[in-house]
Amino acid sequence: MERFTLANCRIVDGTGTPGFTGFVTVVDHRIERVATTPPTLAGTHIEADGLTVTPGFIDMHSHSDLTLFADGRAVSKISQGITLEIIGQCGISGAPLYGHMQDEVGKFFDRHQLKRPYSSMKEYLNFIDGQMAVNILALIGHGTLRRGVMGEGDAPASVEEIRAMQEAVDAAMQAGAVGLSTGLIYPPGCYTPTDEVVEVTRPIARYQGLYFSHLRNEGDTLVEAVDEALRIGREAGVGVQLSHHKAMGPHNWGKTRITLEHIDQAIASGQDVYMDQYPYVASATSLTALLPDWALIGGAQKALERLRDDTLLRRIMNETEAKESRFGWDRTRIGTVRDGQDRRLQGKSLARIAENWGMAPVTALIKILQDNEMQVSMIRFGMGEEDVERVFRHPRTLVGTDGGGSAPDGPLSQGNPHPRTYGTFPRVLAEFVREKHWVSLEEAIHRMTGLAAQRLGLKNRGRIASGYVADLVLLDSDRVDDVATFENPHQTAEGIHRVYVNGSLVWHDNRHTGRMPGRALRYYEER
Ligand SMILES: [Zn+2]
Repeated sequence: MERFTLANCRIVDGTGTPGFTGFVTVVDHRIERVATTPPTLAGTHIEADGLTVTPGFIDMHSHSDLTLFADGRAVSKISQGITLEIIGQCGISGAPLYGHMQDEVGKFFDRHQLKRPYSSMKEYLNFIDGQMAVNILALIGHGTLRRGVMGEGDAPASVEEIRAMQEAVDAAMQAGAVGLSTGLIYPPGCYTPTDEVVEVTRPIARYQGLYFSHLRNEGDTLVEAVDEALRIGREAGVGVQLSHHKAMGPHNWGKTRITLEHIDQAIASGQDVYMDQYPYVASATSLTALLPDWALIGGAQKALERLRDDTLLRRIMNETEAKESRFGWDRTRIGTVRDGQDRRLQGKSLARIAENWGMAPVTALIKILQDNEMQVSMIRFGMGEEDVERVFRHPRTLVGTDGGGSAPDGPLSQGNPHPRTYGTFPRVLAEFVREKHWVSLEEAIHRMTGLAAQRLGLKNRGRIASGYVADLVLLDSDRVDDVATFENPHQTAEGIHRVYVNGSLVWHDNRHTGRMPGRALRYYEER
């Protein structure tokens, strides 16, 4: 039996109450004792004078569904203090896989020379359990499910198809999923009528599951999109998590004033609503998201065919130009290009690339999409500081990276990810707490831990208290800082001294210990 005590540290326990100096004793995977006096029993004594101990951070919005298979160490997450990731977001999940989605997701495994040993949510959770450093809770991705059951079409689901999706959702919830996510801005979510989303979400209510929504729009029709997500939660009878809440495009800045009002009204009327956010003014997603929805119907190959058809291409370019010139071509930078493509484009704006190439930005965009066969990401500087502040100051806002796992070495070290995948939680503590004083350290930690656990209904996590699971972070609150930048993202944060997952030391002295104590949590067991 392993027993250790973090001694003389400031304990910020995740409840939001003021920190105090004391001793935290862990036995095996649980916190045994929290006190202001030293323990009398023997065990390893870790002097932590000057450091702060907090519960492990809960990443409310993670895309590590497949990256955990390629590198279970989850370095970018563990190194910033994350001990639990909520994966399967934005309608995209690792499981369950039906129909052609087995081949689609299989491509990831081929690329990393791995075997895909699962199809169902149950098999997915069983396989990943104990293969990773971090704990996970998994959502069912509505897009992954719908594509598997219905193919790549844009027609609404038939009664039979809705029933098939409901049965699949029910089975995945029984296997331990936490709820359902939609990406209503992406295919096939953008073709899915609201009523259909309600029907497919309905089965999770029986399991107290949660509905996570990447909204149908985050700019011109943001307010309507928030109202739609609230309606889906109301009609399906489930709690709503509004993902990475923001207002995109300078002409939409300030709209969070209205969205937060609508959210407050919903909460006042008894609805269960929370948000999450990452602390940056730039977002990241697939470059294809710049094209009109109709241009993407049927998948990447169909979209490429449309780009080869002169009439359709002209229409696509006109619609994209109208939208993007208003947004600003200088605000969108290329993220990661496809293997074998020109890496010098990574990090450059479409305006700059177009200038270098001597063509219009929209023409450069089409060329990049074609050269990369649509497999290219972007980083967009579309948010205003005031909206970021307003959203963070709301007491229902939690924290999420919106990133998949990465690492400065190994198979996930390639590409140019958004720095949020390494820096989100330290950046909140450094910028929003220490520099700007938007909230106290205790309040920020509460949002990252205790409140997130409460939102998820987890009975044994998110607090430093006797009997709770020992997911712990030992940090220096004066020094904690994000280091990852847009230019050089593969850098781990500073000031995170130790990270324990289920009582096991995973991050120590800026190094991963190589341990893999992470569990695939089953939602029904954790409540
Ligand atoms: Zn999203």
